[in-house]
Amino acid sequence: MTRKLGSKKQRALEILQRLKHLYPDAKCSLDYETPVQLLIATILSAQCTDERVNKVTPELFRQYPNADAIANADLSDIEALVRSTGFYRNKAKNIQAACRMIVTEFNGEVPRSMAELTRLPGAARKTANVVLAHAYGINAGVTVDTHVKRLSGRLGLTQNTDPIRIEQDLIKLLPQPDWENWSIRLIYHGRAVCDARKPACDRCTLADLCPSGSKAEQPGKGERAKGKGGTLNKAEQPGKGEREKGKGRLDNSLDDAEVSHRS
Ligand code: SF4
Repeated sequence: MTRKLGSKKQRALEILQRLKHLYPDAKCSLDYETPVQLLIATILSAQCTDERVNKVTPELFRQYPNADAIANADLSDIEALVRSTGFYRNKAKNIQAACRMIVTEFNGEVPRSMAELTRLPGAARKTANVVLAHAYGINAGVTVDTHVKRLSGRLGLTQNTDPIRIEQDLIKLLPQPDWENWSIRLIYHGRAVCDARKPACDRCTLADLCPSGSKAEQPGKGERAKGKGGTLNKAEQPGKGEREKGKGRLDNSLDDAEVSHRS
């Protein structure tokens, strides 16, 4: 059974409701106990799976439980502990520099504003969105990771490929209290159904709302997808920059640019 695709906003709201129904208990899959630990785990999740990050953080946080401890640690110790997450030298350097700034400028507490958070080494807008939403319940923006980027494009909710522009497009379509709800559930759906290389459109609950889904009718004027309806168009196929090298890679990850942020 197919139906006509509505306006972008109508579809975004309907998709949001379905995602809430599909993944009622969706939560951040990084393990942490404090805002500092969430910040560190999010920095480590760049180009790495959350599962892998969750394997290294228990020992990291056991040895260095807070910003002060990380700030005063031997950098080589941190590097050794986070090595398996990849880009470990950069990540260790950023984590320590961020913790030093937290200690010296923010009294040991992770700041609660986008402007302050994005001053921390290793923390660009995406990291700040995750920390603000999950540590403090502040919906300052929409987290755009590789899954959110891919699915928002396939769902025809953005024509942009730059995460900052995608975020701005999504902000216009979604109610602010649901900004992080959207991202976390879209990440779940990206992992479970809308795979980068093999999206399972035949069993996707969003197919009738998706211009890239096999069940969708052609979108109307102004809503027309970039390619022909019923198939993923070329721009939305996983390309060089989007392709995931291995199964489960890049979950909730940051861009390379973010890894080297202020490095
Ligand atoms: S219909 Fe296909 S492309 Fe669209 S969201 Fe579902 S799995 Fe992804």
